[in-house]
Amino acid sequence: MTNVGVVEKKHLFINGRDVETETYTALYSPYTGDVIAEIAMADEKLTKEAIRAAQEAFQVISKMPAFERSAILEKVVELLKERADLAAEVIARESAKPITFAKGEVSRTIETYKFAAEEAKRIHGETIPFDAAPGGVGRIGYTVRKPIGVIGAITPFNFPMNLVAHKVGPAIASGNSIVLKPASQTPLSALFIAEIFKEAGLPDGVLNVVTGSGSVVGEAIIKDDRVQMITFTGSPAVGIGIRNKAGLKKTTLELGSNAAVILDKDTNIDQVIERCILGAFSNQGQVCISLQRIYAHEEVYDQFVEKFAAAAKQLKLGDPLSPDTYISSLISKKETERAIGWIEEAKQNEAAVVAGGKLTDGILEPTVIVNVDPLLKVSCQEVFAPVVIVNKVSSVEEAIGYVNNSRYGLQAGIYTKNIDKALFASEALEVGAVMINDVPTFRVDQMPYGGVKESGTGREGIKYAVEEMTELKLVVWNRGEK
Ligand code: NAP
Repeated sequence: MTNVGVVEKKHLFINGRDVETETYTALYSPYTGDVIAEIAMADEKLTKEAIRAAQEAFQVISKMPAFERSAILEKVVELLKERADLAAEVIARESAKPITFAKGEVSRTIETYKFAAEEAKRIHGETIPFDAAPGGVGRIGYTVRKPIGVIGAITPFNFPMNLVAHKVGPAIASGNSIVLKPASQTPLSALFIAEIFKEAGLPDGVLNVVTGSGSVVGEAIIKDDRVQMITFTGSPAVGIGIRNKAGLKKTTLELGSNAAVILDKDTNIDQVIERCILGAFSNQGQVCISLQRIYAHEEVYDQFVEKFAAAAKQLKLGDPLSPDTYISSLISKKETERAIGWIEEAKQNEAAVVAGGKLTDGILEPTVIVNVDPLLKVSCQEVFAPVVIVNKVSSVEEAIGYVNNSRYGLQAGIYTKNIDKALFASEALEVGAVMINDVPTFRVDQMPYGGVKESGTGREGIKYAVEEMTELKLVVWNRGEK
């Protein structure tokens, strides 16, 4: 962690050691603009060195008994609990996530590693009824799940600690080794965790953290034949590029979305405002399942818009390290300008901004836009900023049509007291998960998580990630009868 006035140099973490590079780049605070660290920029050669270390370490971790892998993950849980406040500060400083939310992320990271520690002990196959086929009579057999090797993990900036945990946790639980490339804006959280793993007794080379640019380090990982799987969380544009280059490597892609909620006519508006505020504005809307589109039935629309806009205007803007800050800076000025541009486009096309829409001290105010054409960017693309649209609908069916009219399909929510409509929505919504009586932003870390369409392929949530990170192997015993 950087002390005031001291800019710490952060090196690569390869084979259990800090490795220096020729080039370092300044890491700036998105909120203050100050330099908070100097970060090593790996080249292709050093990335390959990390892959080699991971390949050698695979021989160690893949042979380690489950109880030992579990114990290392348990130790990480213990150490992270002890350092939770420091971990939250690291997240807040490098990503401008308000400290209250950063603490929430650390709590979830602890849970994720705890789930991984537990999951390490229950990776198993099944017996196969061979005599169900005439040719199988006289044979018995079973499947086992084998770790697949070196896993290349590429992570985004928005949950820099917990999304690393969603890759590192299941990889180690299932006996794989990892080369991790964190987002350039949030390398400190990943390096912080790597140190904890070393202290927890993880053998050298099992986890390697290679900082540097996506186009150099990321590309080198994707193209290397020694890497068996890419697990990527990030934007659809980068994810699709990875899929195209990955060849026969397994790929898990957790990509973006423009998540929506439907408010049916029987919704108790007072009861949903707080959830919708949290869904739309936590971490400045930089959440893959951030609530971006709200379709409210005409019978509750006016009441909802009035109360929701009023609540949005109350949110406190400020320093991410201040405990009463709800909204701070976006990850970069460029992203702020992009979001403002999309809001302007909406304004010029008959939409109305009923809250926010402008900057205060460089921070984009929580913004609510109504009457938005579905073709406008704030509706049909992923806004990834504290911007939410609210449109009026005359039925749940109409709303489902709007929700499904999207390139994305990660999660969706519906508030209704009508069980038939809830069941219909759960069937008809084209997403990875449907939340009944909640916003689409709900996630706990053991649940299966992932999307359809351009929101990605594969599932995370420790048990499901373990399935992705292992191969089924079949063993068949011929009892010698024929
Ligand atoms: P991003 O720009 O796609 O970056 C993600 C990671 O990919 C970073 O580590 C980045 O490195 C790296 N990268 C960039 N170009 C690359 C290339 N050519 N080859 C390999 N790697 C490359 O995404 P972001 O802005 O950090 O994160 C926001 C996005 O993530 C949003 O779309 C959000 O919805 C999505 N997300 C999805 C989930 C989910 O679970 N579905 C969760 C969180 C976020 P650099 O930082 O060095 O460019």
